[in-house]
Amino acid sequence: MTKTVTVNERDVLLVVDIQNDFCPGGALAVPRGDEVVAPINLLAGNFAHVVLTQDWHPPGHLSFASSHPGRRPFDTIMAPYGPQVLWPDHCVQGTRGAEFREDLHIPHAELVLRKGYRRGIDSYSAFCENDRKTPTGLAGYLRERGFERIFLAGLAFDFCVRYSAADARREGFGVIVVEDCCRAIDLEGSAAATRESLQALDAVCVTADRMVPASTPR
Ligand SMILES: [Zn+2]
Repeated sequence: MTKTVTVNERDVLLVVDIQNDFCPGGALAVPRGDEVVAPINLLAGNFAHVVLTQDWHPPGHLSFASSHPGRRPFDTIMAPYGPQVLWPDHCVQGTRGAEFREDLHIPHAELVLRKGYRRGIDSYSAFCENDRKTPTGLAGYLRERGFERIFLAGLAFDFCVRYSAADARREGFGVIVVEDCCRAIDLEGSAAATRESLQALDAVCVTADRMVPASTPR
């Protein structure tokens, strides 16, 4: 059993891509993705500081299978920056699918970080786009705010949460993934591979019930 984790002023919760298209009924639904919304609302109550990420693609984005004649969703292509999985069109800027879920209720969130808005580069990570060269600016923001540990929750565990966690470690932050507040797409064993890679990165996996807000007497 994981020991409890006390949340402090230098902690920030990064809520990843809780958008209509990633939930059942959406264009790129993560199985049972909607189940995390209520627990994340509760989890966010433990944090003074919360950042939301939003996948935010222009029409005709390189990651869309529809942009590559003859290709189908979940094929992999060689993009100029390396292999890229193709997805159904999703989270197109200004559409309902790109909006946050209506039942996501974190009014005290301090920043909405949009990613994937360059037509030719996808961005799984909230820190660095898939070319592994283009920063989103989030590391600089979090550093300037003085945060030390980043807690992650959201969709999908094995893509945007995984790559965001890895980059956060690389940027020198402590990383804690609240695993029961995530759901996976699980393409060819990607959920198990994510667990292994998080361990190797020294990222901690916890469940939401282990979290203690700083103000709670113990
Ligand atoms: Zn996307």
